[in-house]
Amino acid sequence: MGWLIVALVACSAPKETAPVDTGVPIPRGALQLGFPVPDRDAIATLVGVDHDPVVQSSGIGGLVCTDYEGRGFPHCYDEHDGSDYMLDGGFDAMDAGSAVVVAAADGVVVATEDGHYDRCHADLSDPSGVSCDGNDGVANSVTIEHEGGFRTLYWHLMNGSVAVAVGASVGCGDPVGVIGSSGYSSAPHLHFELQDPDGVVIDPYAGVASQPETWWAEQGEVDALPGAGCAG
Ligand SMILES: [Zn+2]
Repeated sequence: MGWLIVALVACSAPKETAPVDTGVPIPRGALQLGFPVPDRDAIATLVGVDHDPVVQSSGIGGLVCTDYEGRGFPHCYDEHDGSDYMLDGGFDAMDAGSAVVVAAADGVVVATEDGHYDRCHADLSDPSGVSCDGNDGVANSVTIEHEGGFRTLYWHLMNGSVAVAVGASVGCGDPVGVIGSSGYSSAPHLHFELQDPDGVVIDPYAGVASQPETWWAEQGEVDALPGAGCAG
């Protein structure tokens, strides 16, 4: 999903809380995911899942959220269902080759979408905050189903970059596409989403405002990217 406008940051009041004590082992979810962007230096920041159940109004209210560590915008935004990994350098970096997206665990591809405009961008003059320059706002994407019926979703990929077909078996670390800005996206980024077998969103990060289990093979320190290796 999109990333709200940086110009509004001055109006937000992020709430800070103490980080998780990473000296204590964190219980694990049913999957142990690897970070889905091998070129870790390509990622600037994370805009994560919103754990605040209140649906805010649009505009400034849309910035009221709670991330896995109990923090507000810009660590999350209202009703966000996934983890947005922003491409460092934006469209210039995308034009210079962007970054490959890989499967976060073994599984089978159950849905793909490709062929859509991939330069959607922030636009304050548009009521949605995002413009696709008159093109459709459909995201190029891949959905993979894993053991137990859990799914991972990879959205906003570059046009023509989807590297897998429905029905294909993929291994953890296999390329599935390249980071772009297709669909409701204000800048090039990967929207990575984990769902349970009923389609309910799970934040893969354990934290004070999230569930106690981490779904990453190696969650790492607060604000560091998870480890790339998939376990199990
Ligand atoms: Zn998103």
